[in-house]
Amino acid sequence: MTMTDIAPTTGPDDAHASHLAHNYHPLPVRLVAGEGAWLRDADGTAYLDLLAGYSALNFGHRHPRLIAAAHAQLDRLTLTSRAFDHDLLDVFADRLAALLAPHLPADLVLPMNTGAEAVETAIKAARRWGYTVKGVPADAATIVVADNNFHGRTTTIVSFSTDPDAREGFGPYTPGFRVVPYGDADALAAAVDETTVAVLLEPVQGEAGVIVPPAGYLAAARAVCDQHGALLILDEIQSGLGRTGSTLACERAGVRPDLVTLGKALGGGIVPVSAVVGRGDVLGVLTPGTHGSTFGGNPLACAVALAVIDELETGEHQARARDLGDHLHGRLAELVDEGLLVGSRGVGLWAGIDVDPAWGTGRALSEALLARRVLVKDTHGSTVRIAPPLTIEKADLDWGLDQLAAALRG
Ligand SMILES: *Cc1c(COP(=O)(O)O)cnc(C)c1O
Repeated sequence: MTMTDIAPTTGPDDAHASHLAHNYHPLPVRLVAGEGAWLRDADGTAYLDLLAGYSALNFGHRHPRLIAAAHAQLDRLTLTSRAFDHDLLDVFADRLAALLAPHLPADLVLPMNTGAEAVETAIKAARRWGYTVKGVPADAATIVVADNNFHGRTTTIVSFSTDPDAREGFGPYTPGFRVVPYGDADALAAAVDETTVAVLLEPVQGEAGVIVPPAGYLAAARAVCDQHGALLILDEIQSGLGRTGSTLACERAGVRPDLVTLGKALGGGIVPVSAVVGRGDVLGVLTPGTHGSTFGGNPLACAVALAVIDELETGEHQARARDLGDHLHGRLAELVDEGLLVGSRGVGLWAGIDVDPAWGTGRALSEALLARRVLVKDTHGSTVRIAPPLTIEKADLDWGLDQLAAALRG
């Protein structure tokens, strides 16, 4: 990281000293409205969104059915706390469990708000299950994770990050995690033992640059977990809910995890909604008083998430991610063949592209695309992630890719 990376950022018309903390380095664009795959600034300039809120906007900006569900719920009931029940909570759990039942033992659903909270919840459930069911000695539980992971920003989660920016300066770190190279099944097998309560992986690593593991990796992780009586927890917060062309990314690998974490798109781009879904004997160790959240499973969140589940049940978004994804990867491969990109990879409507360092950084490409009214964001040096809303029109996607090619040629 250079000084310019960490210098306070100013917006397009920021003459005054801002009170906003500097934990982000946004591109210089200030948005005021959005619809579908398009955003607009105060001058009325339109921008094509090829980031989709890191997949929180899989259904685009202000999807009419999601917005209608939120409006209707705003006029009825928004928050009860979990001290009381409300009329959508069981419905939400049942419908989400039914959506995911083909892919994992979806016995129980535990609602939270942000992705990091869902991951924390899964870690707590796995540890408690390890002590009370598996019989791991007190405070000896280990969880095996992969390098270059991204699971959120809490102190426990950054304790097992390998990204110095995310981790350094936040110790003392939570113990109990073993980090192995992502995609290396042998290294994973070597790290799992009787103390291991869980293996926690992203089925595709999003923040790391849309890294798809080698074929058979997740199946090997499943086998190692079975052999040692450990849980397989897949973090589908970014990969899940349609992005890869299936409801969950693990479906493609034919692997059934014990728990999944969901977030981002579950809130329809409207409110933060996350959940842990999985085995009843595992999530069942969280009894009253052991875990919770003031806002988790609130009526507004449930109403929006139910509308999201309606969308996913049609299968249309997953099919679109497959079809448009094939098109996207075909066009990106052409740019690689032309020598305009040094690499491209991904699955579904989700790609990581590597810019030739001789051309510039990922940040420079993001800025060149902003000038061409296309919004993307770099991740780690020379990589840019492309993750449009699954609802994007093919012609708009093509226009965005034309701009990418032109920016790289320029
Ligand atoms: C974004 C993300 C998280 C964290 O979600 P927040 O809502 O930002 O806390 C966790 N895991 C993965 C895989 C993510 O992409």
